[in-house]
Amino acid sequence: MTWETVIGLEVHVQLATRSKMFCGCPTSYGEAPNTNVCPVCLGLPGALPVPNAEAIRLGTLGALAFGCSIHPVSVFARKNYFYPDLPKGYQISQFDKPLATGGTLTFESPERGMLTVGITRLHLEEDAGKSLHDRVPGQTAVDLNRAGTPLAEIVGDPDLRSPGEARAYLVALRQLLVYAGVSECSMEEGSLRVDANLSIRRPGDPLGTKTEVKNMNSFANVERALESERARQVALVEGGGSVTQVTLTFNAATGEVKPLRSKEDAHDYRYFPDPDLPPLVLDATWLAERSAELPELPAARRARFESALGLPAYDVGVLTAEPAIADYFEAIVAAGTDPKTAANWVMGEGLGSFSITGSFAVMPARVAALAAMVADGAVSLQAAKRVHAELAAADDNPRAIAERLGVIQVRDEGALEGWVAEVLAAHPDEVARFRGGEAKLIGFFVGQVMKRSGGKADPKGIQPILRTQLGG
Ligand SMILES: [Zn+2]
Repeated sequence: MTWETVIGLEVHVQLATRSKMFCGCPTSYGEAPNTNVCPVCLGLPGALPVPNAEAIRLGTLGALAFGCSIHPVSVFARKNYFYPDLPKGYQISQFDKPLATGGTLTFESPERGMLTVGITRLHLEEDAGKSLHDRVPGQTAVDLNRAGTPLAEIVGDPDLRSPGEARAYLVALRQLLVYAGVSECSMEEGSLRVDANLSIRRPGDPLGTKTEVKNMNSFANVERALESERARQVALVEGGGSVTQVTLTFNAATGEVKPLRSKEDAHDYRYFPDPDLPPLVLDATWLAERSAELPELPAARRARFESALGLPAYDVGVLTAEPAIADYFEAIVAAGTDPKTAANWVMGEGLGSFSITGSFAVMPARVAALAAMVADGAVSLQAAKRVHAELAAADDNPRAIAERLGVIQVRDEGALEGWVAEVLAAHPDEVARFRGGEAKLIGFFVGQVMKRSGGKADPKGIQPILRTQLGG
């Protein structure tokens, strides 16, 4: 009998604000330790928090993107615990009255096809600081730059059934939030973190005891960590043992999970409403405005690219992976290029620079102009790719670059006739064989004319002239 794996994910994303959740300190990444701090985020006595309206707006957009019910009244609560990187001795979060509940996420599961799973809740909170164990030998340093950074925590229902499915869920979740403009969702910069709960059971049984896995720094490692934890639980139970509730940390180097030193067994955070913050009240007009400003989301954009633009499914997947790619593609189409040609340029030449620098090197109008030159035969596709590489290095008019590179195709009939005559004169034997019935020699002559022209002859213009001269 097989084991069924049950996985639920808790994802923390940093809301894309310039300042912190309850004070005006910047949220910029990579600053010198303890420079983005003030009395509020340091928890100094007498300092009072003021909620960041932009963080509330972004959290609401995120909740709307998942189709959650937004609660007109939610409450900021204090989650009390002691840790060196938490200067106030509590984290401001939301507990029994969160911003939003009851959403869904639809994505393609590697095992089960298109799948819709539940989003339990989305609530707002602030981040803690950071304990740095590797800066000062033998000591732990504390950096409070992150303390107070605005977060949305997105808790998913335990609807996922494999580590690969968990990874696909994360890809879709990230895509949705990036499209909605809620978060940059960069695991490297710490703006997206994942905690995973996993249990195993016999199909049809009630849920087994779950464990929590932390410290995974990429979606690939979330999958690896969950594979490892599933194997550990199966071995444990099949060996006659039982799973105990524990928090584990993933070691990417070894691919193994191991229990964290347990903080306290049963957490009692003694949540209570923060007396410094009134309930968060969102009126219907404001909520309607947020719904109206929600941009086109990935599913709608995919559907539009497939039906209205007639692109193949593979192209649609690549072009809609990030809103920046889709926007760039659409700008090329808007500049007059047909959708499939624009897709080929973006996926072929464009993504090369995007994957390295995060931006496209050539302006959409330039790509459109280049595509038009290929379409009307001014340059070959091969030559156009050389022009594109030049454009990536220095912005210029594609025609000027093509002229400088000497790749403008010659369509002038007089010039073509001259090259053809020279080629036929130089190859009397082949001419005789062609006239004797070896029709396939036409390819040989075209090649010779291209060679004689230095690659500049327009291949489409050569054949009729060849046939005229050979026929005579
Ligand atoms: Zn501050």
